[in-house]
Amino acid sequence: MSDIIGAAPLVETRELVKYFPVKGGGGQHVRAVDGVSLAIAQGETLGLVGESGCGKTTLGRTMLRLYNPTSGTLLYRGEDITRVKMLAYRRKMQIIFQDPSASLNPRMTVGEIIGEPLDIHKLCKSKSEKRARISELLTLVGLNSEQANRYPHEFSGGQQQRIGIARALAVNPEFIVCDEPISALDVSIQSQIVNMLEDMQKDLGLTYLFISHDISVVRHISSRIGVMYLGRLVELAPSGELNANPLHPYTRNLLSAVPIPDPDKSRARTRELLQGDLPSPINPPSGCRFHTRCPLARPECSQEEPEFKERAPGHFAACHLL
Ligand code: SF4
Repeated sequence: MSDIIGAAPLVETRELVKYFPVKGGGGQHVRAVDGVSLAIAQGETLGLVGESGCGKTTLGRTMLRLYNPTSGTLLYRGEDITRVKMLAYRRKMQIIFQDPSASLNPRMTVGEIIGEPLDIHKLCKSKSEKRARISELLTLVGLNSEQANRYPHEFSGGQQQRIGIARALAVNPEFIVCDEPISALDVSIQSQIVNMLEDMQKDLGLTYLFISHDISVVRHISSRIGVMYLGRLVELAPSGELNANPLHPYTRNLLSAVPIPDPDKSRARTRELLQGDLPSPINPPSGCRFHTRCPLARPECSQEEPEFKERAPGHFAACHLL
């Protein structure tokens, strides 16, 4: 995988699998992530898109070992961390959650929320050092130190997300999974948070996995984009290349839903509607998992799984038509 990105990856998954047992399901499993291999270079933003239920959040959380992988390998700076104790790595790998109001403890002050990871990882030698660090973090995310004594409910959604970001940054991480970090926010606030994440990436040398159901969000901020469908990657390419030359019918469908500002071009374009709903990840379709909804499906698509192969330099896709 390192050849794909031209540099030694910071984080890498090899055939990563995460299944969840179905309660009372007689040994059945939800195959949330079903053999995903990808690598993220230091300082890169890899966008991960796909509709709700495709496994992207589970993949992000498994990459942080918030879930233990069912099988496959997880590497961090080339070290196998699939089964190791994670405390030392927790500092390097953080997450920003989708719903800031649900991810902040309502009974803790903002200072306590941001100070908690500093305590867990014993990063401050004294109370005054901790106070100064909390103040620095609040300033970094566009808040001020007086707000440390307030509670989450006293803040707007955008400010709550800034608090969540300050908490993630407290431990000086290298890699952050941004799990739909703007989808619960007002549209007017979304670009502020995205711009802030981009600025922080430049200033702090951060590496992001940026998860979104909306390809129009990730395509502006990602160097590369991975498209997931039912637990598998179906396409992975540099962002500009994916936009200009999407190869997989599912990616083309996602892009066809993105609004175009030019009304003439917008009228001329046809939205490819998918048939049916996302199939159950308990019993994914045979062969190509997309065949039950693919407008181009052929008989062999239900028989044989297409290989996820490099079709142009750095551009991978899994489809029998390619
Ligand atoms: Fe569609 Fe067949 Fe390609 Fe799958 S392999 S995306 S079903 S054409």
